[in-house]
Amino acid sequence: MGLVVQKYGGSSVADAEGIKRVAKRIVETKKNGNQVVVVVSAMGDTTDELIDLAGEVSPVADGREFDMLLTAGERISMALLAMAIKSLGHEAQSFTGSQAGLITDSTHNKARIIDVTPGRIKSSVDEGNIAIVAGFQGVSQDSKDITTLGRGGSDTTAVALAAALDAEVCEIYTDVDGVFTADPRVVKSARKIDWISFEDMLELASSGSKVLLHRCVEYARRYNIPIHVRSSFSGLSGTWVSSEPQGGYSGQGEMPVEQALISGVAHDTSEAKVTVVGVPDKPGEAAAIFRVIADAEINVDMVVQNVSAASTGLTDISFTLPKSDGKKAISSLEKAKQKIGFASLRYDDQIAKISLVGAGMKTNPGVTATFFDALSNAGVNIELISTSEIRISVVTRQDDVSEAVRAVHTAFGLDSESDEAVVYGGTGR
Ligand code: ADP
Ligand code: ASP
Ligand code: MG
Repeated sequence: MGLVVQKYGGSSVADAEGIKRVAKRIVETKKNGNQVVVVVSAMGDTTDELIDLAGEVSPVADGREFDMLLTAGERISMALLAMAIKSLGHEAQSFTGSQAGLITDSTHNKARIIDVTPGRIKSSVDEGNIAIVAGFQGVSQDSKDITTLGRGGSDTTAVALAAALDAEVCEIYTDVDGVFTADPRVVKSARKIDWISFEDMLELASSGSKVLLHRCVEYARRYNIPIHVRSSFSGLSGTWVSSEPQGGYSGQGEMPVEQALISGVAHDTSEAKVTVVGVPDKPGEAAAIFRVIADAEINVDMVVQNVSAASTGLTDISFTLPKSDGKKAISSLEKAKQKIGFASLRYDDQIAKISLVGAGMKTNPGVTATFFDALSNAGVNIELISTSEIRISVVTRQDDVSEAVRAVHTAFGLDSESDEAVVYGGTGR
């Protein structure tokens, strides 16, 4: 008998009907002879609503109490799901992240999993129960306080449990039929990908394809856990994410024998751009700026330094960071203004990042030119550029993002001629 871990995202359990529909699917898996461990997210947009609520009572909502608040969302859905399963005549028990043995460090709001001790989950399924685990949460090893893993963290809970329980597969159920060549909410002609490597999925995820969280893919790659991303609404086979196509491919049609040239186009509107204006062009300046940012525990994404003007010897340094860290970055830099010696700061949160991802681009020299041509033909202005071996990213105006993504998608021949990508639920929030 195999053990299967299934994760249901918020859009799959948005209301009582959704919870009952998901409960039926879980019971089917159990009836097929599997042991089933389920990870569940908070219902619909509950987490966003709790964040908004926190913002109404406090200007700085973070830390310990914020985690206490947010984890309540998953507690509601786990208990309701267990009740729905019981009413179908099957045994189910729900567990918080702490009860399920999700041990983390003490960084509130973005804790890292440091150990998983799923003893209670194992005993529960061995006794014949379906175990339901609250996603996105754990308990700090040191402080014993409740922590959360960062937005979208239920994906990571699922993969971490799958690894610790030696599951056959980790199924991620969501509101689209799998991983597509672009976000189906933006590109109707996006194509479902049957199989994608961990590497390409990592790049797509870190470039903004929120269908899977970057950390979850990293974890799956480390422990070699195949992930099957699929819809909880349609029952169709979805996308396998694994090291080798042979590893888990069970899609329709032919087995892909080699990597696609391009896996897909990702976009991200969650970042902002900071420009440090008038920085003296001498050794140590960039280091001083990014030390301040690092000390504020902010992750920087793209960095660009302009050539200094010969007359002044001054340069500008621009970088992107999560919008949610924008205020903190500006106030930390302002405090260090005298010491660093720059002239002023500019903050722009109306940007978007568009990325093209594919292992095939390593060996194909025309990719960059086609990418920039597509953007220029669509009249989209490029503000920043960064590349890795298997990715090109640009920053543009946020207003241009949909058009830019569609133009690039078409230019690389990714449009599907046959079916339109379906979005079954969710608000896209
Ligand atoms: P869940 O609530 O199940 O965790 P999410 O909203 O986190 O769902 O992720 C699913 C959403 O990810 C889809 O509705 C889709 O809009 C978005 N998405 C972004 N990029 C992609 C992509 N390349 N393929 C599929 N979905 C994508
Ligand atoms: N409920 C959390 C969020 O909305 C975690 C998750 O859904 O994965 O970010
Ligand atoms: Mg998600």
